[in-house]
Amino acid sequence: MTVLIRDFDPEAVAVTSGHYIGSRYVHGNEAALAVARPSDGQVYGHVPEAGQAGVDAAVAEAERALASSGWAHRPPRERARAMYRWAELIDSDEQLALLECVGSTRPIGQALVQDIPFTAEAIRFFAEYADKAGGDVAATRSDALGFVAAEPYGVIGAITPWNFPLSMASWKCGPALAAGNAVVLKPSELTPFSTLRLAELAVEAGIPAGVFNVVQGTGADTGAALVRHPGIGKISFTGSSATGQQIMADAGRHGVKPVTLELGGKSPQLVFDEVPDFEHVAQCIVRGFTANGGQACISGSRLVAHEAIAQPLVERVVEIIAGLRPGPTWSAATEYCPAIGPAQADKIDRLVASARDDGADIVAGGEFFDEGPGGAFYRPTVLANVDDEMAVVREEVFGPVLTVQTFADEAEGIALADHPHYGLAAGIHTRDVGQAMRAMRAIEAGTVWINRYGRSRDLALPTGGYKGSGIGKDLGRQAFEACQRYKTVLMDFDAA
Ligand code: NAD
Repeated sequence: MTVLIRDFDPEAVAVTSGHYIGSRYVHGNEAALAVARPSDGQVYGHVPEAGQAGVDAAVAEAERALASSGWAHRPPRERARAMYRWAELIDSDEQLALLECVGSTRPIGQALVQDIPFTAEAIRFFAEYADKAGGDVAATRSDALGFVAAEPYGVIGAITPWNFPLSMASWKCGPALAAGNAVVLKPSELTPFSTLRLAELAVEAGIPAGVFNVVQGTGADTGAALVRHPGIGKISFTGSSATGQQIMADAGRHGVKPVTLELGGKSPQLVFDEVPDFEHVAQCIVRGFTANGGQACISGSRLVAHEAIAQPLVERVVEIIAGLRPGPTWSAATEYCPAIGPAQADKIDRLVASARDDGADIVAGGEFFDEGPGGAFYRPTVLANVDDEMAVVREEVFGPVLTVQTFADEAEGIALADHPHYGLAAGIHTRDVGQAMRAMRAIEAGTVWINRYGRSRDLALPTGGYKGSGIGKDLGRQAFEACQRYKTVLMDFDAA
């Protein structure tokens, strides 16, 4: 990345609106949806609603591009080369980074070090698969040949959330494009602009016009039209569990389409009495529930701690979070993010208030910061004396809120950590390897981190949930394979 981390003026960031279909912007009712900056609440752009007509146009363009460009049939390494060029452009495009920061909750310092390089690297990672997975020859009798050919679906419909717009887009487009599909992507209506720039860069890199298209709009209108469209072969979705359920039902009713669903979580950090490094655990807990203002699917929002360690651990967590100060995403010094908008902030505040009314103790936070540039900045909040019946323990808050529950023995700790509905991730902190393995086996979650919390840069490690947290994986070989369907072929040598 050639861009230096520095403050920037949000007013100087120009946005281009519209849908990106083929290699050009298609305009509609541009004023349909106002888009505000999370950091100060100012409206800085508008996007149109694609609706059925816009989705029809984008899918038709994607089908045309697949047929005319031969994207699916050209030598796979050609696809890989174009994707590599795309990754280089992503890495070096200042406008992309600024659009991500101004419109989302990602501060410039974190976007330049994490989001942008991670986005580019995901594209490279999947490009490398383009010619590495071709199907299997089956063990048939020797006068026949049976094989399983991997083929793309055609046009994949991708739907992304607002919390990491570019990374989420790359996790969807990377495997889909590498496998020879075209994509029509609908970003969140709250963070629509950086994805448009991503699509411009794809064309600039030599990915044929129409192979990657972006339509704008709300979920209920444009998102639903995309899911239901007969030209869409598969849906790859990231968002809330409620929307995921709706999409799965819709995909079943409209063509029995396969779905990849990356959904919400309510992930525990299970801390046993003996841990390798107390300070490291405290830092993991804080990062786990405050990163991106708690607006991360993998947020470690439930601390389940042995009663021998709970009190000092909570005291240390409270000390660390006292140092977090709010700031706009365009300031290089900002580490603590705003809520995406007033509706999300109200939801956080409501859940905390209802827990307090039900008897929870507010150990820290429980209110908005007074200072700040104008957006909704909720203080990192720690709640004790909670129980499993409270909504704040059961439901995904999607804000900087940590609940604390304690246990006396291993079985009780594991039982508390395992959530009845969600199963996205879990952290286990212990010095005892056997204990870590027992807990890892017992907790139903798609990812388990032991003596750490959070993803690494190892894109080979897939991510995805168990139970209500989803179906299928993003990242890893699994995500690439899920963008292919498999055709069985059997030929008798002597039949003619
Ligand atoms: P959301 O479900 O409200 O919206 C996600 C996307 O779906 C948006 O683009 C929205 O417009 C669209 N949508 C809404 N209703 C739709 C419908 N009926 N049909 C088709 N599309 C529809 O989620 P959000 O608030 O944008 O994002 C936060 C959620 O995403 C949290 O629950 C978080 O845990 C989850 N998330 C999960 C992962 C993961 O990898 N598991 C990653 C990031 C975010």
